[in-house]
Amino acid sequence: MKVILLGAPGAGKGSQATKIAEHYNIPHISTGDAFRSNIARGTEIGVYAKSFMDKGQLVPDDVVVKIVAERLSHKDCENGFLLDGFPRSIPQAEALEKLTEVDAVVDIEVDFSVITARLTGRRTCPCGESYHISWLNSDTCPKCGQKLFIRDDDKEETIKQRLDVYQKTTEPLVAFYEERGVVKKIDGNRPIEEVFASIKEALG
Ligand code: AMP
Repeated sequence: MKVILLGAPGAGKGSQATKIAEHYNIPHISTGDAFRSNIARGTEIGVYAKSFMDKGQLVPDDVVVKIVAERLSHKDCENGFLLDGFPRSIPQAEALEKLTEVDAVVDIEVDFSVITARLTGRRTCPCGESYHISWLNSDTCPKCGQKLFIRDDDKEETIKQRLDVYQKTTEPLVAFYEERGVVKKIDGNRPIEEVFASIKEALG
């Protein structure tokens, strides 16, 4: 099963991605996580990517495509994968088409007011999990115990820029994949478990 997760920042892609990957036993490929891991390790790609991420901009297509192409060439992607946060532009989607064919594109739709509230209250763990301050009464990760942090790009000015970039550059992908007949629209204005149930139903 080759699946793409689409949705604005804060739509819940990360939370759903973990569940989908576990349920269908496919690797979860998050370009955002890949960049954050590069930043944490101080690699050249990390330093380069951070300069775009901190401004709420997209990392240039050629860099992202290279990372994804390399990851998709691994053996564990042969029978399927879940792409979270990629593609984010039409050129990235076109590059992906040259690498492989996808079976489904899950588009998580969430109202913009909900998204802003989610992102400003988001706390992230180095392990990749994220939580919302409205229900988590701790500064450590309930799963692994590491200290949670606020992503640099979850600051209010950056959030606005990220949402603008999403509308201009990423949202056109919905029409791109609709033309290919693979889009599954999911109402993301609901609790995580309800959204996940709808995704499972849509993917079969
Ligand atoms: P995410 O964790 O998916 O929200 O990604 C965090 C940031 O990493 C984004 O705001 C971009 O700056 C960068 N990024 C992640 N994936 C991509 C992509 N496919 N294309 C360009 N930039 C990306």
